[in-house]
Amino acid sequence: MSSQHRQLHVFFFPFMAHGHSIPLIDLAVLFAGKGVKSTIITTPMNAPHISKVTEKPRNSGYEVDVLDIEFPAVEAGLPEGCENVDKLSSPDMLVKFFSATEILKRPLEDVIRQHRPHCLVSDMFFPWSNDVAVSSGIPRIVFHGTCTFSFSAMEHVRLYEPHKNVSSDSEPFLIPNFPGDIKLTRSQLAEFFKQETWFTKLFNEFMESGSKSFGVIVNSFYELEIVYADHYTNFFGRKAWNVGPVSLSTKGITDKTNRGKQSSIDENECINWLKSKELNSVVYICFGSVADFDSCQLIEIAKGLEASGQSFIWVVRNEREKLLPEGFEKRMEGKGLIIRGWAPQVLILENEAIGGFVTHCGWNSVLEAVSAGVPVITWPVAAEQFYNEKLLTEILKIGVGVGARKWKRLVGDFVKSEAIEKAVREVITGEGAAEMRNRAKRLAETAKKAVENGGSSDSHLNALIGELKSLSP
Ligand code: UDP
Repeated sequence: MSSQHRQLHVFFFPFMAHGHSIPLIDLAVLFAGKGVKSTIITTPMNAPHISKVTEKPRNSGYEVDVLDIEFPAVEAGLPEGCENVDKLSSPDMLVKFFSATEILKRPLEDVIRQHRPHCLVSDMFFPWSNDVAVSSGIPRIVFHGTCTFSFSAMEHVRLYEPHKNVSSDSEPFLIPNFPGDIKLTRSQLAEFFKQETWFTKLFNEFMESGSKSFGVIVNSFYELEIVYADHYTNFFGRKAWNVGPVSLSTKGITDKTNRGKQSSIDENECINWLKSKELNSVVYICFGSVADFDSCQLIEIAKGLEASGQSFIWVVRNEREKLLPEGFEKRMEGKGLIIRGWAPQVLILENEAIGGFVTHCGWNSVLEAVSAGVPVITWPVAAEQFYNEKLLTEILKIGVGVGARKWKRLVGDFVKSEAIEKAVREVITGEGAAEMRNRAKRLAETAKKAVENGGSSDSHLNALIGELKSLSP
């Protein structure tokens, strides 16, 4: 076959953390569904799960492959096999993890030279991959994993530093030149924003590499944040394709159950438990794949849930289960289901018994809640989660805050049981609950339409593929 007729071939290179890799794997499969040859680049420890996810699409004729490159864990001072953020147990390990990823530059160059893809879609946490793409003569598209609202808001704070003009951590400041009069406080900003840490320089590189790349793929849909999607392209002058929610491409029950990791609960057990509950009555509590609360906080959550009187599904990290209050689980039998480890989140959220989601506002969780039409109780912890909270509570108005005010990696701000109880009641049975639920349901309908044939996300995806084809030799 002559090179003129070569099928479009795209490399997808996700950062090794579940919140980053889950959507990028979905995206690779979406591309493959459009006739593109997709290759997911990962490391040996992460490859088996990804291969499991791609097995079914491959069996249906999609060209989606997994290619692994060695991860230099030991070279970077990490234990052998430490190839995913969920294996890191100290901040020091995170520093080493990032330095290990930089060593991936050479192997990435090698596989690009060998396989000659037409484009590299890589995570924003790999800013150096831009140079690799440029030197290989192919476009690099960034996947930054969040929405245009939060990315832009964060970029405005980084560029204009409005937090330097307030006199205390609790005094609100307005995000300058940003639509919607959005206010934040200094305590809601990441440490590395306020003072120079090891991460500050890296973070600046992450944010700036977007402007050097060919464009950005956004896991969001245009109708969700029209003002901000337009603002992003107009203000920053960057190309952006809103192609989400990518989670809606996961169809079968088994695929939904094992999305990201093998589920710790049998899907039928989970579905049957939910079947016994009334419509919109169950609260789902899960804080993503990274946040890790201490025992005092877990006790407060348990007390708050019990006092709320609502049924619940609570996802507790495996190693934390011993920290639950004595006798709690026994008392809650029938009322509360505790999942230790990994929950089939998308499957749970879609169930009609779910009435609210206590979330740390990780972007994937937010979009999965929106896609399922579930109102949220927002409990931001770190990363860009305080911005996501603003979108949910002030712009979309489909949630209420639990009152977390301090950005604190892993453990978050301490929230008392009374605040948890109040927020849960408000979202499930409160005065404004029905209105919030209706808004969430309408957004879910719009999300589904966006990814259907001819919908806005589907059209963005087609336009992007068309543009890449026109560039390819
Ligand atoms: N997730 C899941 N089961 C769990 C915990 C998380 O399926 O028990 C999935 C969740 O559906 C989402 C991702 O893991 O797709 C977490 O990403 P998010 O951006 O919400 O948070 P992060 O883990 O990056 O903090």
